[in-house]
Amino acid sequence: MSNLSSKLPDAGTSIFAVMSALAQQHNAINLAQGFPNFEPPQRLKDLVGQAIQDGYNQYAPMPGLPMLREAIANKIQLTYGVRPDPGSEVTVTAGATQALFCAIQAVVHPGDEVILLEPAYDCYLPAVLLAGGVPISVPLKGPEFTVDWDEVRAKVTSCTRLIITNNPHNPLGKVFRAPDMAALKDIVLQHDLLLLSDEVYEHLVFDGLPHLSVMADAELFARSMVTFSFGKTFHATGWKTGYVVAPPNLTVEYRKVHQFNVFSVHTPSQVALARFMEDPASWSDLNDFYQAKRDHLTRELAGSPFHVLPCEGTYFGLLDYSGMSDEDDITFARNYTERCGVALIPISPFYRTPPTENRTVRVCFAKTEDVLSDAARQMRTAVY
Ligand code: PMP
Ligand code: GLN
Repeated sequence: MSNLSSKLPDAGTSIFAVMSALAQQHNAINLAQGFPNFEPPQRLKDLVGQAIQDGYNQYAPMPGLPMLREAIANKIQLTYGVRPDPGSEVTVTAGATQALFCAIQAVVHPGDEVILLEPAYDCYLPAVLLAGGVPISVPLKGPEFTVDWDEVRAKVTSCTRLIITNNPHNPLGKVFRAPDMAALKDIVLQHDLLLLSDEVYEHLVFDGLPHLSVMADAELFARSMVTFSFGKTFHATGWKTGYVVAPPNLTVEYRKVHQFNVFSVHTPSQVALARFMEDPASWSDLNDFYQAKRDHLTRELAGSPFHVLPCEGTYFGLLDYSGMSDEDDITFARNYTERCGVALIPISPFYRTPPTENRTVRVCFAKTEDVLSDAARQMRTAVY
């Protein structure tokens, strides 16, 4: 068709799909795409089957089953000491990806500027472009990938509408501290902006650091939409379930898009999640669980040519390969998968204009210890 003009001319296949396919093709251990190689809790799986048998098989209400929205509000109260109104502030979504997409469509008008801190998770940019928004990138600085909040402030114009943040951060494994939250709040309030805060890794924060949720700050939350994913919290990425929490005026706008995008989300999963979350222990030991995996991989990689960078949260960390190769990260990740049998993720695809000097790749440690050990052995002994 000659008159087909792409709305996303630069969008290719996501790097996660590309690297998973390459891992399969070369029979490599897949530490690339972020998903656990272990099962969700048995009781949660049983509850889904039970819900199907109990007859929860037709459309759920558009914003989500009331029992699940109640459970989400309870969980937020226990975790952050504030209780969103389940009726007007919580919406159940088909994963965080759908929540992020609809949130962006709901508030970004053509020509609005949207600030992205880069590296940025891959689904933000296309959603901004499809809304007609103008992405404004602020690259994180130096080997520590620090947010330069003065630069963020300097990039705010009269057209700026939204800032998108991700805390804890994929792919960097970094976590915002109090001064980050203070600077973010100052900018959002001073310039009358909206905030989309992607907090899907809220329960994967290590070494006793707190997760500073936007929801814990009433003034900031009043201007925010906050996204979460049951896929991360309950080791069930394939269920594609999550939620968005926003004050009533933003939730009204969010739901206008949501109802024509997905309308409602898989009903049996919602019943199961609500029942499962009656016990706070269902989510409370995740930090320790993943911290042990991070520490296991770090220990096992001692003596490998990779330099393991500090990881404060998420189930991802960065590995510096500059001692092994001067190739760019995409070339290195591809070649490493083929030659050394372990698939990793380059971080260039998380940028609009990738830094040429980057020599780090992302590793996913949401794997059982035997797989992490096998991969690490390969990474210690393989000749690149
Ligand atoms: N945001 C970030 C930062 C992610 O890493 C992911 C998925 N790994 C998502 C959003 C999407 O979550 P979901 O799978 O629930 O759509
Ligand atoms: N969020 C996952 C990651 O960062 C991938 C999800 C996907 O494949 N879209 O690896």
